[in-house]
Amino acid sequence: MRIDILSIFPGMFGGVLSSSMLGRAAEKGLLEFHLHDIRAYSDNKHRNTDDYPFGGGAGMVMMAQPVYSCIEVVDPGHEAYRVTLSPRGEVLTPKRAKELSEMPRLLLLCGHYEGIDERVSYAMDAEISIGDYVLTGGELPAMVLVDCVSRFVPGVLGSEDSAGDESFSDGLLEYPQYTRPASFRGMDVPEVLLNGNHALIARFRRDEALKLTYARRPELIEEIPLDKADKALLESLKNQANQGK
Ligand code: SAM
Repeated sequence: MRIDILSIFPGMFGGVLSSSMLGRAAEKGLLEFHLHDIRAYSDNKHRNTDDYPFGGGAGMVMMAQPVYSCIEVVDPGHEAYRVTLSPRGEVLTPKRAKELSEMPRLLLLCGHYEGIDERVSYAMDAEISIGDYVLTGGELPAMVLVDCVSRFVPGVLGSEDSAGDESFSDGLLEYPQYTRPASFRGMDVPEVLLNGNHALIARFRRDEALKLTYARRPELIEEIPLDKADKALLESLKNQANQGK
């Protein structure tokens, strides 16, 4: 998969894209990153990329010209799925990340200042937010998106890892994990994980995931299919909660 990133601070990406899973995926040729400095496409002799907002107001706005010129060089045939990182976009979800991972090519536009001239949106396919908070620029959101999307690209995660066994993959938060030693400073790993009974381990993990999700993100449970044992557990959690009131 090819990913083009348009930014006025392309230098921010080096460490992230060349380290760990992303770095290995790039070495293997599974991911191809291309960074583009929007500033280099400015017609302005000072290479400006921002100007005052029409109508007044605080801050500056990224100008359409350098962004359009950059896009026209990087993706002249509109082969890439073009995404603007923006706090007003649809919030990134695992489902959306998986959809993006199936695109042969992505183009990510990182905003700055107060935002981007609205006319740039006519050249784009989507606006995506990484959450309901505002960062100073689109570079960190683009890195988050690239990392999240890459995990769904076949071959990026090692065979021992899986994007299908994580928080949200089955609609629940992930169950607690433990590794050796079985006893650490008087804290013991739950016995069921040590006995090798895979059915019991699966049930234990499902129950723990349900308990955690019920406590922290109960709205997620409304979205998923529940079996009889799930329903019985949730009923008892609700009763416990009511008794505690
Ligand atoms: N004035 C804009 C607003 O209220 O929606 C915020 C602009 S923000 C300071 C500058 C840039 O950071 C945005 O254009 C966007 O590219 C990026 N950005 C900030 N927060 C983001 C978020 N939660 N998700 C995605 N991009 C974000």
